[in-house]
Amino acid sequence: MERLLLRNIDRENSNSIETYLSNGGYLSLRKALREMSPGDVIEEVKRSGLRGRGGAGFPTGMKWEFAAADIKEPKFFVCNADEGEPCTFKDRLIIEKDPHALIEGMLIGAYATGCRYGYIYLRGEYPVGRKILERAIGEAYDKGFLGENILGTEFSFDLYIHSGAGAYICGEETALINSLEGRRGEPRIKPPFPVNAGYLWKPTVVNNVETLANIPLIIERGGDWYASIGSPDCPGPKLYPVSGKVKRPGVYELPMGTPLSEIIYEHAGGIVGDRKLKAVFPGGASSSVLTSEEIDVPMDFPSLAKAGTMLGSGAVMVLDETDCIVRASLRLIKFFRHESCGKCTPCREGTDWLVRIVSRIEEGLGSEDDLDTILDISSVMENSFCGLGMAAHNPVVSSVRKFKDEFLKHIKLGRCPFRRS
Ligand code: NAD
Ligand code: SF4
Repeated sequence: MERLLLRNIDRENSNSIETYLSNGGYLSLRKALREMSPGDVIEEVKRSGLRGRGGAGFPTGMKWEFAAADIKEPKFFVCNADEGEPCTFKDRLIIEKDPHALIEGMLIGAYATGCRYGYIYLRGEYPVGRKILERAIGEAYDKGFLGENILGTEFSFDLYIHSGAGAYICGEETALINSLEGRRGEPRIKPPFPVNAGYLWKPTVVNNVETLANIPLIIERGGDWYASIGSPDCPGPKLYPVSGKVKRPGVYELPMGTPLSEIIYEHAGGIVGDRKLKAVFPGGASSSVLTSEEIDVPMDFPSLAKAGTMLGSGAVMVLDETDCIVRASLRLIKFFRHESCGKCTPCREGTDWLVRIVSRIEEGLGSEDDLDTILDISSVMENSFCGLGMAAHNPVVSSVRKFKDEFLKHIKLGRCPFRRS
């Protein structure tokens, strides 16, 4: 497939505005401002079928339509660049290698929705990305793409960067907004959704980096063209970050809906040492695990939901036959215990209990009753306040269900069967 989202990354000085402009950069913004009304832009994005690439897959055109319909002023446009999901490193590539695609996507989105001010909420651990974005924003101001009366029109837009402080929960959009306001990074109740009551309780569009990088393409080539790529229900190009026991880990741009087996064996080169694949977390740290018999699934939102897991950020984490599934799920639940904001009991206490129980099983000190307790705790965690707690137990519970024998082996042997000493 022709590279679309990553079309610029191998060019020399790919992140400079000169490189971007000499390859058709900001022509989509020009087209949107000069030839299209805000409503036309929203219609084109709706026609494209673009769904948010942060993890939840909400239709982008619909989100923009909701924001455009709200008459409260001022409105804000926020790019969620707080890429904190373990093994997810796709947005970073766009931020560092093609920042103007992100800025152009934001400008078109702000024009369509009537937003006057924008923020890029950047992961605190991306200091290189911050420097690159600062330079790119400066270049865009110098060329008249940001600021007052952009390209001689009535559209004005100012853009700022806000760095996070290392909390994963601030990638949840309402916690992000709280953090942007200088408050503690804790989620707010939804609804109201940010499109109606976000930053400073004003209409706020929050879109992920990869989502926004699609926008110039859609405006340039049209929604119908975009909708013809990948899965009919969920079209477009998709960035899949692949890590773990594959020969060629990295970020792969492929049509949405590419089979997971193809991603692992063709693009990522198969399993290290030609060992057997054991398990895959197909959509980031909170996705349910798939076994080696389940990897012929198309990597898109509806297909993975049907398979009992989720696409999430699209981060594929591969385990081979020498990996211990108990230890892998323990690592993931430890991450969520550390990152739980502590606001609600099911998540705060549930993640802690899961760590304690899975730890003792991994050490060979568990009992068979522990497996039922894990399932009980997870059903309570489903009632957590936000997505973090609702999904944190997925890797553990799915591992217990699909690899029960391996958990039982730890319990019966009184040790991890994969440990050499
Ligand atoms: P969500 O379903 O609550 O919302 C998705 C988006 O749609 C939000 O912007 C929300 O405001 C909007 N929305 C939903 N219903 C709406 C409505 N009726 N009206 C207006 N807007 C509406 O999901 P979420 O909790 O924001 O995100 C969960 C996902 O985030 C998970 O799938 C997870 O994979 C992903 N995630 C990604 C990362 C990362 O680093 N990329 C990190 C953590 C989690
Ligand atoms: Fe905080 Fe977890 Fe509750 Fe979300 S689910 S509000 S992260 S404690």
